[in-house]
This record gives sequence, structure tokens and C-alpha cells, in this order.
Amino acid sequence: MSNHEQVTDPLQCGISLERDAANSKRIANLISIGIPLVGTAYAPLHFRHYSIGWIALSSFVLFYIAIGIGIGLGFHRYLTHKSFLPVRWLKWTLLVLGSFAFQGPVIRWIADHRRHHRFSDHPWDTHSPLFNELHPIHSKFRGLWHAHVGWMFDRTTTDYRVYAPDLLRDRDCVLLEHLYPLWMFLSLALPWLYGFLLGGADVAWSCLILGGCVRTTVFHNVVWGVNSIGHIFGSRDATKRDSSRNNLLLALATFGEGWHNNHHAAPRCAYNRWKWYQIDLNGILIWCLGKSGLVKDIVSTHNVVGLPSDTCAPLDAAEVTTANDAVL
Ligand SMILES: [Zn+2]
Ligand SMILES: [Zn+2]
Repeated sequence: MSNHEQVTDPLQCGISLERDAANSKRIANLISIGIPLVGTAYAPLHFRHYSIGWIALSSFVLFYIAIGIGIGLGFHRYLTHKSFLPVRWLKWTLLVLGSFAFQGPVIRWIADHRRHHRFSDHPWDTHSPLFNELHPIHSKFRGLWHAHVGWMFDRTTTDYRVYAPDLLRDRDCVLLEHLYPLWMFLSLALPWLYGFLLGGADVAWSCLILGGCVRTTVFHNVVWGVNSIGHIFGSRDATKRDSSRNNLLLALATFGEGWHNNHHAAPRCAYNRWKWYQIDLNGILIWCLGKSGLVKDIVSTHNVVGLPSDTCAPLDAAEVTTANDAVL
């Protein structure tokens, strides 16, 4: 484990085992998962009485794309890894859309993900299918379950002061974090309003269920799938430092985040496409935003070497060459 730290005391690495903090995390995750899941479970009953029209279907597509971009571009490539710098209104737009995804408040998401990169598939990784220090993993299924859902209810919490001190100093991020309940409400209210304006009250409820609840539950499992499936199934053609994989289906469903092995090889790189066939829609969007002047300081593998290692694992020379050949 040359690129990862051996941890004897998790506290020193910003990982708490304190019971109250763990319970707060569990309750927040239960709410974030439970609300859309209840609506999703109700969907078959609702659509027994109401047909799924184009308005409800379009609400699913529109709001899925919105939270996909919010998580992929906003939470992940921009705020976790600082792959680019958006203008302020775009920063707010991306981070609000990410907050619509019911994946916890913004700073917690980023802190957990940075911890994942620090310990990738080694002890104290946030969500590895290969390691769980508190309940050793004896089977592949148990590992997948821990990486998919179990980690959100385990005893560990990630210290913001260690993993996201930059965000604690960012007033926008602190405000976004505190307003998380509002973003959850709007995430369901906006599909309802969309349906109401286009089709009336009955269509509004169909949009709330399909474009609000089902959309969120589907995207939950897609993103969790990157943590679980994306560290077990797929190819490892960029790095073998950890168990991350490139997975076509996950890449299509996440607009490019599923090229996860490429991402682990060069976490700060704004582009996940290293080979011609690796479609990276989020990367294309960043490239377009760069051309339009709405984002600047785009980090590609051309200039990733030498940046601080807090948000970027170092690349070795062979990997840099490979990446330089394939980036947009
Ligand atoms: Zn990963
Ligand atoms: Zn990442």
C-alpha cells in the first residue's frame, strides 16, 4: 500500500468513533434515504390509477440530469477535487443541484469522499467493499453491501476539520450545508410544481413521485453503485493502486463518473476520458463551460503533477503519459 497510509489511531486521521456523532449521521442518512424510498415504494400503487404521461416521464429525465450534474460536476469534480473554478452563480447552481440529490449536506459529502480517496480500499476507507475495520468482511456480498449502503449506518464519522477545512472557511458552503432541509424540500417541490404548471394537480403528484422520489432513489443506487460495483466489477486499465474499476454502465448512468479507475489514477483531473470510447459527458460539459468563460483553472493531467496531495494522489510518469494522450 505504497500510496496509502497505515492508520493505527483513526482519531489522528480525522475519523471519529463517537456514538452521538454516529447516531446523528445515521438519522440524517435514514431521512435522506427514507423519504424518497417511501415515495418510490408507493409508485406502483399510484400508477395503477394514473397513467405515466410524457410530463411525468420528462420530469424524471430533467431532474435526474440536474442532480447528476450537481453531484458529478458540483460536489465531486469541483468541490471535492477542485478540478475547475466556476463563477459564483454557477457554483451556487451546481451545489444546490447536488444538494437536491438527498445524499447528505454538501460538506459531509465532500469530507467523506476525500477520506475515501485518502484510504482507497485500505483500512478506514469510507466505503470500501474490501475493508471494514469494525465488522470484518467475510464475503463479496457483505463487502458490496457495506460499500453500497452499510457505511452510512456504521460507527465512523468523518471530521470536517481534517477533511474539509477549506469548506468550513467558505461562507457559501457553510450556508448551503445549513440549508440542507430546504434543498430536500425543493428537490421534491419543484417536480410537483413542474407537473402542476404543465398538467394540473393529478399530473403534479405523478411528477412528485416519478421526477422526485423515484428519480432520487434510482440516482442513490447509481452513485452508491460507483462505491460498491465500481470497486469490484470492471477494468483496471489506469491504476492498480486500489480496486477501483472502469465500468461502462456506471459511466453512462453517472455521465462519466463511472470511469472510476481513471478517476482514482488522477483524482484532480477534470476529465475522466482516457480512451476514445470512454464517454465522459461531465468532462465535455466542463470543457464547454471553460470555452464559454464560466469556469476557469481547469485541471487536466497536463498540469496535475505537483499539486498538493490533499485532493490529488500523485501520478507516476507512465500514468501521466497515458492520460495526456487521451484527455479531451
Ligand atoms: Zn472510489
Ligand atoms: Zn473522487
